[in-house]
Amino acid sequence: RKKIGVLTSGGDSPGMNASVRAIVRVGIARGCDVYGIYEGYRGLVEGKEKIKKLKWDDVRGFIHIGGTVIGTARCMEFKERPGRLQAAENLIKNGIDALIVCGGDGSLTGADLFRSEWSGLLAELVSLGRCSAEEIEPYRALTIVGLVGSIDNDMSSTDITIGAVTSLHRICESVDSISSTAMSHQRAFVIEVMGRHCGWLALMAGISCGADLVFIPERPPVEEDWETSMCDLLQSHRLLGKRKTIVIVAEGAIDQHLKPIKPDYIKDVLSSRLGLDTRVTTLGHVQRGGAPAAFDRYLSTIQGVEAVEAVFRSTPELPSPMIGMCQNQVTWQPLVKAVEMTHAVAKAIKEKDFKRAMELRDPE
Ligand code: ADP
Repeated sequence: RKKIGVLTSGGDSPGMNASVRAIVRVGIARGCDVYGIYEGYRGLVEGKEKIKKLKWDDVRGFIHIGGTVIGTARCMEFKERPGRLQAAENLIKNGIDALIVCGGDGSLTGADLFRSEWSGLLAELVSLGRCSAEEIEPYRALTIVGLVGSIDNDMSSTDITIGAVTSLHRICESVDSISSTAMSHQRAFVIEVMGRHCGWLALMAGISCGADLVFIPERPPVEEDWETSMCDLLQSHRLLGKRKTIVIVAEGAIDQHLKPIKPDYIKDVLSSRLGLDTRVTTLGHVQRGGAPAAFDRYLSTIQGVEAVEAVFRSTPELPSPMIGMCQNQVTWQPLVKAVEMTHAVAKAIKEKDFKRAMELRDPE
């Protein structure tokens, strides 16, 4: 009888609960025991009451709740080997032989490291006398499956991550609210949106809300004097009769020299050079919260089902997969490859190779 552990980790994202629900119910339907590991990797390291068997009814009503009911955390201990050793021991002591992690690129990087170290961790547990050789025998092949839960949509090798669409909806609603007051007063608004080092939310919000200008990390302004180009553009829109100005700035927006572009700075430029009554709005955590959009409920459910399937189909030769979505098809990618590609994007941006960053993020 397979025992599957499921945890949600890193930044919460709407839809994580729906994936936990799907994993628990499909797992039970396929004859497995499913354990919820509470508070992400922290729960895995702490063990004891943080690891609980979940029954069918325990996930009732999960599908429409935002955030993650089983909790998430940033866990420094898991970044260090002793923490991961403790995590391995807790899995074995609870009889868990497969782990499904729903989290962002940090969480999946941690999952991939854990996977790569697994046999070494087992050997260490035996040599330290914390587990016996017979005890570890059934756990030689731990399967780890990754689901990408992130509002940022920043994972390479998948078109869309769990929570990104809901977050985009929340941003659009907020920008629409701001737009009506901006138009009434003929104001300019500089709106900062989340996304860490990824501009997907900002770009999509810009298109969906008809913003005048968008700043994203992957395509910094090409001009050295981008401030003048910005003012010329926004002024031309005003001359065409537009009564409002909306500029969307990704939190990771940078210039050609990798210097952050901050909303307050844009506000100062627009106020002083164009004389626009300019306000800054940082949308903040409203972007993460609330009920998941229908698409995220669907995405996390079908990917949760696929994650359980991956547990059954995994073999020692088949590397641990990350479940993704490419061209409307659920996909399996080796976790290690998706993590490497995501890190390569960050490296390309640091090296100012913005074109390569875009290609790596969307390899298809
Ligand atoms: P996200 O998964 O949303 O990107 P974080 O980057 O904060 O969020 O990662 C969540 C957790 O995953 C961290 O608190 C840590 O426990 C684990 N983690 C992140 N990066 C690593 C790493 N390089 N090695 C081991 N664990 C990691």
